[in-house]
Amino acid sequence: MRINQLIERLERERTLEREELIELLSPSLPGEAAAMLRQKAREVTDRVFGNRVRIRGLIEVTNVCRNNCYYCGLRKSNRTLRRYTLTPDRILECCAKGYDAGFRTFVLQGGENPAMTRRDVVEIVESIKRDYPDVAVTLSLGEWERDDYAAFRQAGADRYLLRHETRDSGHYSRLHPPEMSLTHRLQCLEWLKETGFQTGTGIMVGAPGQTAANIATDLLYMAGLKPEMIGIGPFIPNGSTPFAGEKSGSVELTIRLISMLRLMFPGANIPATTALATLSPGRGRVEGLLAGANVVMPNLSPPEVRADYALYDNKAAWGIEAAEGISRLADELRRAGLEITKEKGDFENV
Ligand code: SAH
Ligand code: SF4
Repeated sequence: MRINQLIERLERERTLEREELIELLSPSLPGEAAAMLRQKAREVTDRVFGNRVRIRGLIEVTNVCRNNCYYCGLRKSNRTLRRYTLTPDRILECCAKGYDAGFRTFVLQGGENPAMTRRDVVEIVESIKRDYPDVAVTLSLGEWERDDYAAFRQAGADRYLLRHETRDSGHYSRLHPPEMSLTHRLQCLEWLKETGFQTGTGIMVGAPGQTAANIATDLLYMAGLKPEMIGIGPFIPNGSTPFAGEKSGSVELTIRLISMLRLMFPGANIPATTALATLSPGRGRVEGLLAGANVVMPNLSPPEVRADYALYDNKAAWGIEAAEGISRLADELRRAGLEITKEKGDFENV
């Protein structure tokens, strides 16, 4: 069957022609083809990582943001949100808790908070690296200039997550106000690569206005960038944004994309994201992992601010989605034949 051959070629050549990618993204892809993608992706994941799932502790350092992305609950025009910024001491307390629980990567994520300077970020990275020399620090703090990224790297930050969101400029302007620029975002990704970060990018699946052709463009862009990490999750509306009335993205398509990305990037760190777990409670994480993901990022933010980091509605941040639920998460993964690993989990080229 032609589709099966496409999947075999995607595995072998790690890319396909644009039209072929679009075919694999079609809503009418036969169930057997989707199953074959999942199975091949799981085989590759197993070959590279075994049954080991890497864990990252997610610390949501601030929900203040100067931007106005139409999809995101942290956008500056959302007046319904109680805004917070964690002090360095509180961030270090999260790290202490996480380190005890076995985390060896901390991900500092937040809005683009104008009050958070380059110096602030450098200092917190330095403190974490001083107190915990054996951990990796991942930053996910949006767009900066090249010098800033170089300073973060110099301070010891290892990895940076910055989803490109969409590689199509028409689609980009459907998701962002005119003052934001796709060119700058892509430039940032180049800088991150140049300054030596393990660089993560990605998209939301089913974002308003997204077509299969857009996603194919995203995949081809990523094939050129060669990211070390890829974050994809379904779009989920937030009731206090211009996209309040939009539909959520498809869990099925998200899973299919995870599998396609695993075939394209065998060594990449690909999380089963919180958004996937939110839309498919109790199953999303494991399904993502069995379809090619190799990372989970439990929430390590102070419990009293978790509800305020409201990217989208009903965001999962409790129970097995939280760092304090790690032993229950481990049990659930074990039932699926997977095992949490406490290794640092840097990217390795395969
Ligand atoms: N400010 C930083 C990091 C925080 S947002 C940045 O924008 O890069 C982190 C990610 O959350 C974004 O890249 C986006 O892809 C995702 N996100 C935001 N709103 C979302 C929504 N409504 N549904 C699903 N994912 C969303
Ligand atoms: Fe700010 Fe990031 Fe949300 Fe955009 S997606 S509003 S940059 S936090």
